[in-house]
Amino acid sequence: MVRTRFAPSPTGYLHIGGARTALFSWAYARRHGGQFILRIEDTDVARSTPEAVQAILDGMAWLDLQHDEGPYYQMQRMDRYKEVIQQMLAAGTAYYCYTSREELDALRAEQEARKEKPRYDGRWRPAPGKVLPAPPAGVEPVVRFCNPTDGVVGWDDLVKGRIEIANAELDDFIIARADGTPTYNFCVVVDDWDMGITQVIRGDDHVNNTPRQINVLKALGAQVPQYAHLSMILGDDGTKLSKRHGAVSVMQYDEDGFLPEAVINYLARLGWSHGDDEIFSREQFVQWFDLDHITPSAAQFNTEKLLWLNQHYMKQAGAAALVPQIAARLQRRGVDTGKGPDLAQAIGLYLDRCNTLNLLADALEVFYVDIHPAPELLAQHLSEEARPALADFAAGLEQVAWEVPAIAALIKETVTRHGLKMPKLAMPLRVILTGQAQTPSVDAVVALVGRDTALARLAPHRS
Ligand code: GLU
Repeated sequence: MVRTRFAPSPTGYLHIGGARTALFSWAYARRHGGQFILRIEDTDVARSTPEAVQAILDGMAWLDLQHDEGPYYQMQRMDRYKEVIQQMLAAGTAYYCYTSREELDALRAEQEARKEKPRYDGRWRPAPGKVLPAPPAGVEPVVRFCNPTDGVVGWDDLVKGRIEIANAELDDFIIARADGTPTYNFCVVVDDWDMGITQVIRGDDHVNNTPRQINVLKALGAQVPQYAHLSMILGDDGTKLSKRHGAVSVMQYDEDGFLPEAVINYLARLGWSHGDDEIFSREQFVQWFDLDHITPSAAQFNTEKLLWLNQHYMKQAGAAALVPQIAARLQRRGVDTGKGPDLAQAIGLYLDRCNTLNLLADALEVFYVDIHPAPELLAQHLSEEARPALADFAAGLEQVAWEVPAIAALIKETVTRHGLKMPKLAMPLRVILTGQAQTPSVDAVVALVGRDTALARLAPHRS
């Protein structure tokens, strides 16, 4: 049974890198009919906040990455970690260490002077025949793990291939602090063990933790999971993705007018591929997803591609399905979509031209509020010779059948009668009716605006 997990630390929003890790872990579990577990790693109490927990849950819900178990919270599992520490002390795979901060500093200074890598020297580590000093009075000890001293620890990383490190390179790391609280690397091990995790899929910033975690798992007699370390994501400019690149929080994409389907499809291709396929559904992704086609090199963010996908998914959703989204976005700006043209029709007319929901809302706002076209824009597009044609057209609008072909015929007839080229009338019409010089086909825009509003907006230009 495949069991994967996503184990974010709630110290900020759910960012794009975390969301991709979550997506891959989720998809792997779904692909194999397994289970996906959500675990909140909140032991860094100084940096963890309830708001960040909520932001993670919101982000996961928005992306519709549902977990089968959890969320587990590490802070609620302290007793269990302490229990395992006691078991390890009893089994001799961990030991109390009374070395003071001053002693550690002195040790480090000596090692640096000898140009050695600073590391704990195992002075409190029990060994056959070794006589340990008496524990100093009044010192609360930390607990250290008895890391194997020889051989190598390695694993076949499902993304990066074989990784090995000599045990001699690893020192006996602290698994419980002097106040008894377990350390991060230790909690992860106990959790992955207790939760029966079979594949650990996570960011490659954790590669250095893996050998230590494997050694502890082995000391516990636990099954070691497989590991897949995902390479980092670079921004559009090739540097590590960070706040500087703008929207790195998943929920910011919602704010900015992206559909979750587009973000999922985009993230799926960020470091993973299935031939040349760029557009695929969530179901298709789950069927195709594997860890063999994850690239070990860094993936680069490409905003243009995300926009392209977003437009695809907006069109695929269709005008009617986008109505609630656009209505909500306009309402948040205080725009009442109850007054004005049918929103689905308006969306349908502009859908091809906008690649985010926000741009669509921007374009459609003019149909639901009073507009005041910029005088310069009007001056630029309304020539003296066009004025009588405009007045004529307005008169014609009073009785024309309100449908696109009839309005198109009226426009044509008017320009012919006045000996004008089409744009001479079409351009000022666009500006007067929408405040914008770029619109879809002018006859369709007139039709959308509606007779009353069109006449009201044209009224000041009829004399
Ligand atoms: N809590 C860790 C993080 O947010 C992830 C740990 C793991 O996946 O093992 O980076």
